[in-house]
Amino acid sequence: MSDLKIKYPLMWQKDDFFIKIFCSIPNIATGILISAKDKYFIVDPGDGLLRDINKELKLEQILNISNIFISHGHHDHIGGLWSLLTYFNVMKKKEDVNIFYPKGSREIESIYKAFAQVYKREISYKIQLNPIDKSEIIDIGIISVLPFKVNHMEHEKKAGKPVPVPSLGFKFIYSGKSICYGGDTAYCETLVQNVVNSDLAIVEAGALDDENCEMHMTIKQAQSIGKTAKEHFLVHIPERKLNS
Ligand SMILES: [Zn+2]
Repeated sequence: MSDLKIKYPLMWQKDDFFIKIFCSIPNIATGILISAKDKYFIVDPGDGLLRDINKELKLEQILNISNIFISHGHHDHIGGLWSLLTYFNVMKKKEDVNIFYPKGSREIESIYKAFAQVYKREISYKIQLNPIDKSEIIDIGIISVLPFKVNHMEHEKKAGKPVPVPSLGFKFIYSGKSICYGGDTAYCETLVQNVVNSDLAIVEAGALDDENCEMHMTIKQAQSIGKTAKEHFLVHIPERKLNS
């Protein structure tokens, strides 16, 4: 796949609607920052996210972040959540933080519980957990977000086969423009429907080969979906595939 040279960060901007994908490497980390007008939103706080936004934003801008969207609880999408929440506290953030995540995601709820337990006497801000079970528009001031279920799996030893993981994609809508992020997913109808006509689609192509497309998408599948948006990025491509 030598024609697929992806160099992070990936950036896209239409007027004052902006997205920066710091990275999206399977089993390592994903980290995404979206901004609309003067507001910032975190999507999938994987490992290194705090370091990356610290380079990108002023302290005041980081402390104004009030909304975190998480596609699912796998470590490469939430590895930086603890440090982000702790940094907010160390820097005495005042405004509440909303975490939007798929209902039933035990990793995210466990991190929250542990964090609340460790810092119970001294958390400077409130954390609001928002488990999502339905595809309903969430209005957050200037931006609207449509979550949608996608089809992601993980291997479970006990079950002896892949089992579904609570997983979401998100469509971010601002000023007549939309960015659709599919999270991690196998080919699924909800993603197909939400990507169509988006101004930007971010589609994973995490399958290791063309046979293995039960848990992730092949590059062909991801491209066929991505092409229905006005522009698209393929992400989450295994590094060994890019290097081959
Ligand atoms: Zn995953």
